[in-house]
Amino acid sequence: MGIGDVTQPLAPVVVAAMKKAADEMGVKETFRGYEDSGKGYDFLREAVAGYYKSFGVTVSPEEVLISDGAKSDCGNIGDIFSENEDVVVTDPAYPVYVDSNVMGGRTVHYVNSTEDNGFAAMPDESMKPGLIYLCSPNNPTGSVYTKEQLKLWVDYAIKNKSVVIFDAAYEAFISDETLPRSIFQIEGARKCAIEICSLSKTAGFTGTRCGYTVIPGEEISFMQLWCRRQGSKFNGVSYPVQRAAEAVFTEEGYKQTRATIAYYMQNAKVMSETFDELGIKYTGGKNSPYIWFKCPDGMDSWTFFDKLLNEAEVVGTPGAGFGKNGDGWFRLTAFGTHENTVEAMQRVKKLLSK
Ligand code: PLP
Repeated sequence: MGIGDVTQPLAPVVVAAMKKAADEMGVKETFRGYEDSGKGYDFLREAVAGYYKSFGVTVSPEEVLISDGAKSDCGNIGDIFSENEDVVVTDPAYPVYVDSNVMGGRTVHYVNSTEDNGFAAMPDESMKPGLIYLCSPNNPTGSVYTKEQLKLWVDYAIKNKSVVIFDAAYEAFISDETLPRSIFQIEGARKCAIEICSLSKTAGFTGTRCGYTVIPGEEISFMQLWCRRQGSKFNGVSYPVQRAAEAVFTEEGYKQTRATIAYYMQNAKVMSETFDELGIKYTGGKNSPYIWFKCPDGMDSWTFFDKLLNEAEVVGTPGAGFGKNGDGWFRLTAFGTHENTVEAMQRVKKLLSK
């Protein structure tokens, strides 16, 4: 129940596409070497643009850049910004945003995600950051920004000439249609945002590696800089993996990968029901594969980690690892097998109802 890695295999259509592409690589006429552009093959960039269209967002294939995952893009995007830019990150947050900016020599400021604001940090008018990192659905808290909340961030970014780096790695887990899956569903976002997404959780690509970043045409200078950065330090994602990724966006691929997401969300339901029964406060579990709950009896998150490990033999992630506001909170992932999730929840129930 600890690390957010998937347990279910790749969808059959994805495997078939990867095998077919591997076969093409073994034939002289269809073999491919370096990809010309390093931006991703047109077939995949078009498939991603088509996926955005399916939920009402217009993105052109030229605005989509294929990568080996969201961690790389979240960590590398800072390369195109000055080290003098101040950065705003939520506390708690996915650690890559902080660590990569510290490595880049930038100063990181925090906005608080707490129980009081439902773990949805909002802009601090006293700050004028160059860069803002947002993640929704959020890792670790499982909270999801509403359109109204994201609009406040977009307006704030435009006013302060900030760039929002929007990490949408868990967008596929949103089932509530009123919640935004992309920052580009918010008016004005094309003037201030870069969106980073991944197939890791959408389609079980954690070990296969493929993601994409969308830089709107309005931000042509960022697009040019990012392409130059990628061209200097990255040589693209392998052809079989890009073909496998393309298969995710076919009708059959969508059906098969959403069935796996439904499997994980069934785990999330078992977990939410356990915490509901125990009367323990939590966020996530709906529209998100994480449950973020308050450690019982005022325990700090590492004390609770030890208790859960030693007394129930269940591994989770202490909230303190994601920032100071995470202390006293704990993250469990829904990416386990169903059997393990049910077993873990039985043990949690036994431990916490003592
Ligand atoms: N962004 C967030 C918020 C994540 O939680 C993760 C993985 O756990 C990633 C990005 C990394 O995704 P990828 O596997 O595409 O590098």
